[in-house]
Amino acid sequence: MMRHYTSVVFGLVILSVASASWGQDASDRWRVVHAGTLLSSPGTLPLEHQTLVIKNDRVDRIVSGFATPESLDLSDAETINLQDHFVLPGLVDMHVHLTSDRSVSLPGVDAGRDVYSMTIGIRNARKTLHAGYTTVRNPGSAGWSIFALRDGIQSGDLEGPRLFVAGHTIRIGTDGSSGSCYSVDSCRQAVRRQIAMGADFIKVYATCSGAQPCAHEKAPAVFMLDELKAVVETAKTRELKVAAHAHTTAGINLALQAGVDSVEHASWLNDTSYHLLLESGGYVVPTLMVKDMIRRGLGNRDPATRARLERSLVEHPRRVAEAFAAGVKIASGSDAGVVPHGRNARELEWYVDIGLSEMEAIVTATVNAADLLGQSEHLGTLEPGKLADVIAVPESPLENISELFNVDFVMKAGKVYKNAR
Ligand SMILES: [Zn+2]
Repeated sequence: MMRHYTSVVFGLVILSVASASWGQDASDRWRVVHAGTLLSSPGTLPLEHQTLVIKNDRVDRIVSGFATPESLDLSDAETINLQDHFVLPGLVDMHVHLTSDRSVSLPGVDAGRDVYSMTIGIRNARKTLHAGYTTVRNPGSAGWSIFALRDGIQSGDLEGPRLFVAGHTIRIGTDGSSGSCYSVDSCRQAVRRQIAMGADFIKVYATCSGAQPCAHEKAPAVFMLDELKAVVETAKTRELKVAAHAHTTAGINLALQAGVDSVEHASWLNDTSYHLLLESGGYVVPTLMVKDMIRRGLGNRDPATRARLERSLVEHPRRVAEAFAAGVKIASGSDAGVVPHGRNARELEWYVDIGLSEMEAIVTATVNAADLLGQSEHLGTLEPGKLADVIAVPESPLENISELFNVDFVMKAGKVYKNAR
């Protein structure tokens, strides 16, 4: 993703050189947004009656009161009236599989799969952006479609959130397929292959999938420490972060010991996990929204699986709440693709249910998510110099987090994608 920003920045440099030679800034596009209430930096108090001044794709400045373009000496600027709205930074979801959709069955033929998953991805990308999510991280997908989707959105050909993609998940396997590995050398190779394909970060399956018997609380980690360390160290050679899918206690703690930046799902956290997370500054990406689906499907499970899942329905949220209370950082991640797309804010309802304040829940989907992406310079708040990712809702989500289902204005990098007021 870094190189995309590089090319954008390079483009702007050319633009400003060109406009300098004209002696004016006629090529700049200015917008003035009148926000009834503006939460510019989640974690700090919102302010009433603010004007957000946007130059091209970024926030230029914030002015108190509803300033007219004329008073700002920007007579050509377009005014966007959100005077009766609550305005906040675009939301970020750290765990979305855009090219997967449980409601759609893909053709079994390998050659066709990638093309079909691309069409699914295009639809879900639009749905996600219109739900107010202007950036998402896609931890693991098959084929090449996710790279094409990311680049298509980046170039402006497709409508969707800014995408950070992992490519193929690094997993235990001996068949030599992309992402599979079974030793220090082959794990290095598997990571380097994702880097060569264009991965923005690395995803590793540090444990079995949640519903599998081998993902029970006391199950051992599936990797060995030196293999996981090889994954992390190889990712670091290109300054890429590593996200570990991890359910079991041993798997979570081994991944943290190896130096991963986030544990995804993190079902069976324990005191050691909290300690390791606090020490490393790592994040938990809880994907609690999956619990809704697990609860609905309990009737179809065999008794043993059912008992295990019922316990995790209670224990997983409880342990995430305990981790948060201990000071562990949470970044919002829904696992959309496993659960429905475009309903990502359900994850934030879960956080409020387990005891976070509405403000703390919004921080997980803005400031914290930007930090975990390594993109705090560009994303997460609306401050001068940052990307103009702006959304609006009619009422305050600080009173009722469910208000985030009512996003009716979406701007990404200064461009308006939804204005349904
Ligand atoms: Zn997932």
